[in-house]
Amino acid sequence: MTASNKQTWSAGVITLFPNMFPGLLAESLAGKALAAGIWSLSVTDLRDFGVGKHRKVDDPPFGGGAGMVLRGDVMAAAVAATAAQLPQNVRRIYLSPRGKPLNQNLVADLAESTGVLLVCGRYEGLDERAITASKLEEISIGDYVLSGGEVAAQVLLDAVIRLLPEVIGNAESHRHDSFADGLLEHPHYTHPRDLAGDAVPEVLISGDHARIEAWRRKQAEALTRARRPDLLEMQKARDKSKN
Ligand code: SAM
Repeated sequence: MTASNKQTWSAGVITLFPNMFPGLLAESLAGKALAAGIWSLSVTDLRDFGVGKHRKVDDPPFGGGAGMVLRGDVMAAAVAATAAQLPQNVRRIYLSPRGKPLNQNLVADLAESTGVLLVCGRYEGLDERAITASKLEEISIGDYVLSGGEVAAQVLLDAVIRLLPEVIGNAESHRHDSFADGLLEHPHYTHPRDLAGDAVPEVLISGDHARIEAWRRKQAEALTRARRPDLLEMQKARDKSKN
């Protein structure tokens, strides 16, 4: 099956900085996939929905406090207009540090969906009523605060796009990716065989595929135990709940 007879995965982005898109996604795998129509991108300028002569999109928070808040009426209008250009059942996401953490399982779910509508916040964030009225799920890309949702949106899209069928063209290449099976990935080696006295592990040049697979698995487990024991604990809990 070719890309042309497959459904395009659709992304719609609402931002105050439309020139930031496609940004990083214009290059490499994502850029080629965009040009090939494997995914599509529509960018909505929030300013177009601003109110009054100055197309105002923000106001000070009720109750006082520093900074400005994106207006709920403005965002709701932008969400409705953007949603009208996308398949009906796309996931509606507000990139937010308060959100559910983005992880590889969530990325894989999104890659299996028809697409996403992404709301990029700015300033202090978005009026709470727009989140509920537009049924936005909140997703965070990590426990730190960015100045806007645009970088977060590109992180999410990059991670999803590489999983879309046809993008890498070989599901095998994702099989050992970090997190794919709950582990960090094993180490990689390439030429030269000896790098300033540091030789490639003998097993990798043995040609014995079973030994190589076992060695890689062991390395992945040891690395995960040392760096991310929480992943092993989560895996254990999942196995327990299955039994
Ligand atoms: N006052 C907000 C808070 O403390 O939760 C932070 C607002 S931040 C300066 C502006 C925007 O950047 C947010 O509305 C959100 O869209 C985006 N953003 C910041 N950090 C993020 C993160 N870790 N993940 C996803 N989006 C983030």
